[in-house]
Parts: sequence; structure tokens; C-alpha cells
Amino acid sequence: MDNSINVIGAGLAGCEAAWQIAQRGIKVNLYDMKPAKFSPAHKSSNLCELVCSNSFKADRIDSAAGLLKEELRLLNSLVIKCADKCRIPAGGALAVDREKFSAMVTDKILNHPFINFISREVEKIPREGTTIIAAGPLASESISKDISELCSGELSFFDAAAPILTAESINMNKAFFQSRYDKGDGSDYLNCPLSEEEYMEFYEELISAERAPIHGFDVADPKVYEGCMPVEVMAKRGVDTLRFGPMKPVGLKNPETGKRPFAVVQLRKENSEGTLYNMVGFQTNLKFGEQKRVFSKVPALKNFEIIRYGVMHRNTFIDSPRLLNSDYSMRENKNLFFAGQITGVEGYMESVSSGLISGINAARRVLNQESFCMPKITMIGALSKYISDEGILNFQPMGANFGIISPLNEVIKDKKMRYNEFASRSVNYINSINI
Ligand SMILES: Cc1cc2nc3c(=O)[nH]c(=O)nc-3n(C[C@H](O)[C@H](O)[C@H](O)COP(=O)(O)OP(=O)(O)OC[C@H]3O[C@@H](n4cnc5c(N)ncnc54)[C@H](O)[C@@H]3O)c2cc1C
Repeated sequence: MDNSINVIGAGLAGCEAAWQIAQRGIKVNLYDMKPAKFSPAHKSSNLCELVCSNSFKADRIDSAAGLLKEELRLLNSLVIKCADKCRIPAGGALAVDREKFSAMVTDKILNHPFINFISREVEKIPREGTTIIAAGPLASESISKDISELCSGELSFFDAAAPILTAESINMNKAFFQSRYDKGDGSDYLNCPLSEEEYMEFYEELISAERAPIHGFDVADPKVYEGCMPVEVMAKRGVDTLRFGPMKPVGLKNPETGKRPFAVVQLRKENSEGTLYNMVGFQTNLKFGEQKRVFSKVPALKNFEIIRYGVMHRNTFIDSPRLLNSDYSMRENKNLFFAGQITGVEGYMESVSSGLISGINAARRVLNQESFCMPKITMIGALSKYISDEGILNFQPMGANFGIISPLNEVIKDKKMRYNEFASRSVNYINSINI
């Protein structure tokens, strides 16, 4: 019986998934539309192409990005192995010579006896057999259509997203929990009030802040839906526009003054644990440094820590919390898997991690073995649990960060010590398993 597995897309996630399957002795048909057809961001005919930066972020194990990479090393990831070999000096970050890196992964993939590479655009996802869909954030139009049919819904294309902050970095003495007109659960929204003077200062900084170049290609200044208009664009419509929009104070009373604030920035829980908050209606395309500078003018956010900056570019991703299990298979069809940025993990190594887990599990499916999920004490597990967490209603992509990992049993105030403890907990776990 042919138990080969299809992998659609030979980017970061697809190459890792194919490798994991092949290393388990199962044949893989790996498809990519390159070099016959390129997305607007892909340029090289090699596989596993880095479409933008050549950095995989920090390499220190006591950083979220560094821990993720260490976990991938411990789990025998092909992509991280090639990245380590193609490393170029970049301070504390792991950056690579992008050409060498892609060429090395391509060579490993093309020469693996169990991987059959097929250069073809896949327009329809096979509904029979075992398949991993790893067509990326710029998946071709035909497959995007089929994916949205398969998922019974529109794919989310976000043009602009709001920053996400850590709860611990918000000054709770200058913020208060309340829903407008006291509707719903009182802890749904955390309000950061501004006086008239504070608002005016914030407003002036916002409208004069520098915007980032659009990570886009189709148009220089893409039309955005009103619903996700960058806050800096909206602000330019007039000094009070935000006070009638995302910063409206109606239905709120500051318990400290007993009065309605002049304006508020509302924060909403981003995860079930309440360790992360997003800035409601604050989707933005400001440069990262400008986001930090301008938004810290809000008194409660003076020392805030952003774990995901607001960004603007085309990004195709599915509503994973309603569609996927934490092994990246579909709830409706356990033989169909998604991997990579299209699942809502965000970033190169995050995509690799989902490729690794989906590859391992696709192989286990055809070998009739139990599904394998990493626990939330690991960064890989925290990401897979995040994207499959049904409690997340307005799902937006998520990169590695310590806000999504399980808290420690003891409280460690010192950040560096706490992060080191996260790292050793995860490494000890991975060293104890055999997968
Ligand atoms: C403009 C832009 C800039 C980015 N910059 C960064 C950055 O600096 N750092 C970072 O960490 N992340 C960045 N990202 C996110 C980045 O895309 C992901 O981190 C990573 O590339 C995702 O890996 P993936 O495997 O999911 O998709 P990809 O690496 O994009 O791989 C998808 C593959 O699928 C193929 N494909 C698509 N449709 C089909 C089809 N129908 N049939 C066959 N093959 C198909 C494509 O040719 C491609 O090779 C950026 C994304 C975009 C869009």
C-alpha cells in the first residue's frame, strides 16, 4: 500500500516537515510551484528561501527566540542544523548567509532517498491520503481558494495588526478594569486613561511619527478596510477622530477620579491566562521604534514591553483555534495537516517548529501511532497550544515569547533568572523524551 505523504510548499515549514517524515522512513512527495511560479516575495529557485531578513533573531537560550532554536536543535531539525552551519557574525543573533543556507537545505532535501521533489503548483488539496499544507503566507491564489473551501470560511488577510503587550509591563496603578457601560465580564477590558493634556501630547506624537515601508509589493499604499485602518492614518483625519473611535471614553468611569476620562486606550486579553494584552483598535504601520516611543506616552504604558509589534503586509492564515488540533492536524480530518505561517505562527523559526511537529505527526499517522504534542512548558508546545486554543476569538498570528509558555511553579522576580528557569525546564523535558 502506498503510504507516502504529500507536503505542499517547500518553504521553511514544508522542508522541515518533509525531512522529519523522510527521516522516519516514510516517502514524501514535496511540491513547490517554484521555479515556474514565484510569489511576489520569493525570488530564488532554491527551497527554504528567506523572503526578508536573514536573521533568526536572538540565540541566547534565556530569550524566547533562542529557546525555540535550542528546542529545534534538540529535536534534530534540519533547518536549524543548516542555519548553524551557515551562520554569519550578528552579535547575539543567529543570522545566516541566505544563499548558502537555502542551497544547503535544498541539497539535503533533493538528495534524501525518501523525498521526491515535484516542481508544480498544487491547485487542489488532495482529500484522500495524508497531506501537509505549508504554502505560506503568500500561498498562490488557486490553493488559497481551495483552503478557504476546506476551512469553510474566508482566510484572514490582515493588512494591519495591533501590538501585543505583556501584562506584567503595564502600570496597573494607572489603569482600570471595566467594560463600557459595565456590560460583560468586568475583567474583559483594561483601560488606560489619558487627560486632555496627555491626549494632546500623544496625538501630536502619533501624527508626526514615522511609518514603516509597506512589506508589500502590489501597491505602494494599499487600500485598507475601515475595520483595520492603521491608527496613525485614522488620527490624521482630525484631532478628535480617535476620541470618537478606538480611544472613545464613553461608558467608562475612572475609579480614581470618579469621572469619565478624556480618552482611553483599551487593552483586551490576548490569551486565556491574561499574560498578554492587545491594544484594541491600535493596528499600526509605524516603525517599531516609533511604536515604542509614541505608545509609551500613555501613562499606564510608560514602561510597556511589546512582544509583537503592529505590522502591515499581506498574510494568509487560517482561523486555527477553530480548525486545528495542537499537532497541527485538522479537527475535521486528522490526515490533513497545516504547517508554517499559514497556521498563524509568526516568523521563520516558528514556522519551522510547526513543520517539525506536523511532520512528526503525519508520519505517526501513517504508522498508526498516537499523536505527539509538546507540552506548554516548551516554546514549541506553547506555540502549538496557542494556535489551537479555542478560547482565542479574534485570532492573530503569534511568534515565540514567554507570555504564552506555562508559568513557573515558583515566582521568580528577576527576569533573567526567570527566563533561564523557563529554558532549563524545557531542555530537561526534551532531554527526557525519545521522539
Ligand atoms: C513580505 C514578508 C516578509 C517577511 N519577513 C520576515 C522576517 O523578516 N522574519 C521572519 O521571521 N518572518 C518573516 N516573514 C514571515 C515569513 O513568511 C515566514 O516566517 C516564513 O517564510 C514562513 O514559512 P512558511 O514555510 O510558512 O512559508 P514560505 O517560506 O513562504 O514557504 C511557502 C512555499 O510554498 C510555495 N507555494 C505557495 N503556493 C503554492 C502552491 N499552490 N503549490 C505549490 N507550492 C506553493 C511557495 O513557493 C513557497 O516556497 C515575512 C513574510 C512576508 C510575506
